[in-house]
Amino acid sequence: MKKIILIISLISIVSCGSQYVGKEVETIPSYPAKFPIKFKIDDNFTDTQREAIYRAMKSWEMAVGKELFVFDGTDHSTPSSYKSILNDNVNGLYLYEEWSDTGREEKALGTTFWTRRNEDILFNAKNYIFVDGLKDKSTDDRWVVDLESVALHELGHFLGLGHSKDKSSIMYPMLNIGENQAKRKLSTEDVELIKENVKTQEQNGGILTHAQ
Ligand SMILES: [Zn+2]
Repeated sequence: MKKIILIISLISIVSCGSQYVGKEVETIPSYPAKFPIKFKIDDNFTDTQREAIYRAMKSWEMAVGKELFVFDGTDHSTPSSYKSILNDNVNGLYLYEEWSDTGREEKALGTTFWTRRNEDILFNAKNYIFVDGLKDKSTDDRWVVDLESVALHELGHFLGLGHSKDKSSIMYPMLNIGENQAKRKLSTEDVELIKENVKTQEQNGGILTHAQ
């Protein structure tokens, strides 16, 4: 088993497949919320998992030098289908077991959906264990994934960023997973992009827009 885990730790996995869900795909969708963005968090996350997500939020806030996220309580309703949380006016982060329903690649780590009413981040809890990649171990049936790394990437989408072709960027769409794998730092490009993105959005009256 150890050998298999070693191989797994070297695999890069497609990290998401985030997209707008709506009819007018030819226009750049905007999400009607202002910074800081209110969010709710699935109460199935453990305290340790929540802390990892908050650290990822903090990294983006440090880059911009301002508050970008506001905690708005836990969400007790585990979504039976991701469709039920689209357009529910709640920006939520969820551990999602019914991954196949999303239409995303089976091995994707997480995804961000947004509509004109809200946006949601789903983590692929069907196939992965979201923990501390630098400390925790894989099990026989699910690979260990560093939650902070995936959260950092998906929160980039949550803030309106698209993917990057630069491998050092957190918005690069592949991530190494497995034991002792983590990517928790923003690149210089990430910092520049998010600063520019937030500035533009403030000039537009604080309306959050998403890169396509
Ligand atoms: Zn992505």
